[in-house]
Amino acid sequence: MTTLEQKRHFDRIIERVEKARLRVNNHHIVKIVAASKYVDSDAIKALYTIGQRAFGENKVQNLVTKNEVLEELSIEWHFIGSLQKNKINHLLSVRPHLIHSIDSIELAHALNERLERENMNLRALVQINSAYEASKSGFLPEEISDAYAQIMEECPRLQLQGVMSIGAHVDDPTIIKKSFETTQRIFETLPNATICSMGMSSDFELAIECGSNLIRLGSILFLK
Ligand SMILES: *Cc1c(COP(=O)(O)O)cnc(C)c1O
Repeated sequence: MTTLEQKRHFDRIIERVEKARLRVNNHHIVKIVAASKYVDSDAIKALYTIGQRAFGENKVQNLVTKNEVLEELSIEWHFIGSLQKNKINHLLSVRPHLIHSIDSIELAHALNERLERENMNLRALVQINSAYEASKSGFLPEEISDAYAQIMEECPRLQLQGVMSIGAHVDDPTIIKKSFETTQRIFETLPNATICSMGMSSDFELAIECGSNLIRLGSILFLK
């Protein structure tokens, strides 16, 4: 794609986001994080050039490498994948803007400990497995309230900002919607939660209509 074609394509996606958010209300603002796991640094740079600033990676090594290559750009990096404890140092070396995927108390403790040692803080979301899928990580809806309170209490270096969830992995939109509504209901009960990260290429409009204010778009942005 030429730059112009890419800009047009991006504008059409932004228009869809805009329409979906206005169906919620005028004040409902939605942030786009570009999930760049499918592409190399050049493609990230191309999207950056037309205005995108927030990018998300799901593998620590790829995040580290791309951050090195793209060092001169002011990219806001998000970590959106499962984090293994032995990769924590590596992840923190990038100083990511937000980690979306706190999926166990043990991980929260391990992060907190390392952050303490580095004298750093880190914004974080707690992942909810709203669709009760065995293939997904995250806390179950009935666990989240206690887990969130426990992390807030025991892991002061993690600045909890809300929740992340992946919509149900099915074709039926009513079931996907139900999983988003579950996430949204939980989000509204959590203290000081401001970020509800849900919605991907195939379901972002539905997610926004269910209250998402951060969507993670990959394939629709990068693969055509
Ligand atoms: C890859 C990925 C996305 C983006 O998925 P697409 O369906 O390609 O938009 C969003 N969230 C997470 C956690 C991902 O790993």
